[in-house]
Amino acid sequence: MSAIPENLQAVRQQIATVAREVSRDAQSVTLLAVSKTFGADAVMTAADAGQHAFGENYVQEATDKIKILQQKRPDLQLEWHFIGPIQSNKTRAIAEHFDWVHSIEREKIAQRFSEQRPLQRPPLNICLQVNISGEASKSGVLPEQASVLAHAVASLPNLRLRGLMAVPEPEDDIDKQRAAFARLRILFEQLRAQGLTLDTLSMGMSADMPAAIAEGATIVRIGSAIFGNRNYAK
Ligand SMILES: *Cc1c(COP(=O)(O)O)cnc(C)c1O
Repeated sequence: MSAIPENLQAVRQQIATVAREVSRDAQSVTLLAVSKTFGADAVMTAADAGQHAFGENYVQEATDKIKILQQKRPDLQLEWHFIGPIQSNKTRAIAEHFDWVHSIEREKIAQRFSEQRPLQRPPLNICLQVNISGEASKSGVLPEQASVLAHAVASLPNLRLRGLMAVPEPEDDIDKQRAAFARLRILFEQLRAQGLTLDTLSMGMSADMPAAIAEGATIVRIGSAIFGNRNYAK
């Protein structure tokens, strides 16, 4: 028996509990189920338990999965979010198969998405990934460069700039987790004050979801708490 429906229920319950504690509407937090390394069957099980939005990191794995699901279960209207590092030779496949991309950190990549987005599809929803942990090794645009990138992306056709995403350094302490998410929220508010119509803060994973919700996350990206531990060797 799969634990996925029970896990999903528990995560939804936790979202509701935390939202209530910080006086937020639980409906303002979208649960993105991160299905990387898990197969189409796991996605189907989650979808049958009411899950609608799925996140993926690897282009080939994801497009295979999306095609299998379209074939096997055309009744499911799933929303696909690309959340992994982007190589420029993979942008076309992402532009053709996904509804959202959370991990834009360069204008050049955004330009490719803008050119490659099929015209019969709605604009590709975009979040800029921001490096809020300040380490050279971390992905994401630096906070001080986010405004220039945001205005450039907002002006491109076939894209819709929705907001910001971050993957902070892991921290056990909830106050430290909150401090990192607060940096992203403040940047988000600054960009909005500059006239950009942003509505999405993509932050929070299995280990730091409550802190992210407390700091205003509108999308939480949850993998292992729903699907179990990932086995990359498989
Ligand atoms: C894998 C991944 C997640 C999900 O992580 P869990 O710890 O399994 O919840 C979220 N966001 C990104 C960018 C990821 O790569």
